[in-house]
Parts: sequence; C-alpha cells; structure tokens
Amino acid sequence: INKWKQGLERTRKATFGRLAAMLGVSEIDTDTWEDLEALLLQADLGVETSQQIIESLRQRVHQQGLTRTSELQQALKEELLKRLDEPPPINLEMHQPAVILIVGVNGSGKTTTIAKLAYWFKRQNKKVLLVAADTFRAAAVDQLQVWAERLDLPIVAGQPNADPGAVAYDGIQAALARKADVALVDTAGRLHTRYNLMEELKKVHRVVGKALPGAPHAVWLVLDATTGQNALQQARAFKDAVNVNGIILAKLDSSARGGMAFAIQRTLGIPILFVGLGEKPEDLEIFNPEAFVQGILE
Ligand code: GDP
Repeated sequence: INKWKQGLERTRKATFGRLAAMLGVSEIDTDTWEDLEALLLQADLGVETSQQIIESLRQRVHQQGLTRTSELQQALKEELLKRLDEPPPINLEMHQPAVILIVGVNGSGKTTTIAKLAYWFKRQNKKVLLVAADTFRAAAVDQLQVWAERLDLPIVAGQPNADPGAVAYDGIQAALARKADVALVDTAGRLHTRYNLMEELKKVHRVVGKALPGAPHAVWLVLDATTGQNALQQARAFKDAVNVNGIILAKLDSSARGGMAFAIQRTLGIPILFVGLGEKPEDLEIFNPEAFVQGILE
C-alpha cells in the first residue's frame, strides 16, 4: 500500500488530492459539481466517465439528502472503485513454456517492463527466457541484454535487422529446449508511416503460433500512463491486430493523470494486469483497484 501511495503522489497532488481538499470544506453547490468535473477531466478520466460519476454522485446527494461536501468523499471513492475491475489471476502454469508477447510503442516503457515481468516470474521460481525480437532497434536488443545479465537470465537476441519472426521462432525453440516456464518476447514498437507495425506484429504472432501451437498464451500491451487519452487510440490498434488480453500501465508514478486507468477499463474492456511504479525491476505491482483508488485520493 505504501508503494502505491508513493507511486501515485503525482496524480494525487495534481488532481485527486485537490479534490479531496475541496470536498472537505463547504456546502455542496453548483461550483462543487463544476470543480469536480473539471478535476476528473484533468485527471484523464475522459468525458463520459467523468459525467457518469458526477451524475451518480448527484443522485446520491439527492437520495441521501447530503449537504456537506465532506459527505461526498466516501461516495466518490465508491464510484471510482465501482469502475475498476480486479485483474484476473495470471494463470499460465498449464503451458510450458508459457509464451507471452509483449507489445507497445517505443518509449512506452516496454523494455523496462519486460525486465520487471522477468523479475516477477523469477521470484516465483519460474524459469524465464527473454526473446529480443525488436531487431529494428539495436538499442532495444542491447538494453534487454543488459537486463538479462543483471537478472541472470538466458536471452535469445536477433542480429540487427534480422527477421523478427525468425528470432521469435528461435526463441521459442530455445525455450522448449531449456524447458523454460515462461518466454517473454519483446516485439517492435516503431511508429513510422512507411512501415506497418501492426502487420509486422501479426506476422510475429503467426510465427509464434507455428513454433508452438497454442502460443502466444498471452499478449500484453504496455501503455505509457503519461500519455493519457492518446494511448487509448494506440491500444485499440494493437487490440485489433494481435488480440491483446492484458494491459500493463507503465510510468504511473511519472504521471499526474492516473485517471486513464478508468478510461482503459471503460473503452477497451481489457483488464489492467500490472502497473509500473518506478524504474527498478521490483517496481511492478499487480493492479489493485483498492490500493489505486486509495493512493490517488488519500
Ligand atoms: P521502450 O522504448 O518502450 O522499451 O521504453 P524503455 O523501457 O526504454 O523505457 C523508457 C523510459 O521510461 C526509461 O527511462 C525507463 O527507465 C522509464 N520507465 C519505464 N517504466 C517506468 C515506470 O514504471 N516508472 C518510471 N518512473 N519510469 C519508467
């Protein structure tokens, strides 16, 4: 819980904390609703979610005869919590290796997140193998290699400009040969007009399925929390291309707009599995709606 409080300080200070302060001091009036809506929007909850929350709160005020803004605080907490689902359990034990494709645009925090996930699985005594299939970006391969060394993990890395599908294929062969429990596959993330990232990812997805029928067993999308609503558009494209079934919200600690979590839930219908709360391997937490709401409000 402490980690969440610390990690969510920016969001709390910029928006929700001000809201909590605002709610403590006066009678409920027109200004209350206007201020509340402005702050929810600023926190990146999106127009629809913000308006829904305001409407629900208005109804509560009416039905329960609330007059003090302080009485709104608990109601707001409940309304926020209602809009966040607990993540489903990460249950990949039935597959060996469990192949997880990690997708996301460059700069989203993808490489760091892979290191964090590797560390997370390793702590559960899983044999982890990294596959560096973002061969367009030599730096990405290097960076992952550095992490592999630091975390003492095997890695299959492609040569610069090698075919990403071929690297993914080799990676899965290696995971099978080594009897790895989990293979984390890094993928390309460059957005460029003369190159179709989504087609590339589909191809890698297909090749992975050929290397091991049934794979990938999960496709997780890394989203940068600091990019707010823009990330949603991106997320939709990934979802359509490769069937994303889990979101990892990176850099939540650098963001003042944690409200994005609500928008993701509402507009994408993909569960948030993990959040990144810092740059170190241990700064990854399973998404916990209760800790999240408490962290942004209190
Ligand atoms: P990639 O280009 O998507 O692979 O992104 P990187 O993994 O290289 O991350 C880009 C930058 O964001 C790096 O400086 C990371 O240290 C930083 N970063 C990644 N995740 C987090 C996070 O959860 N919190 C913070 N504060 N920084 C992060």
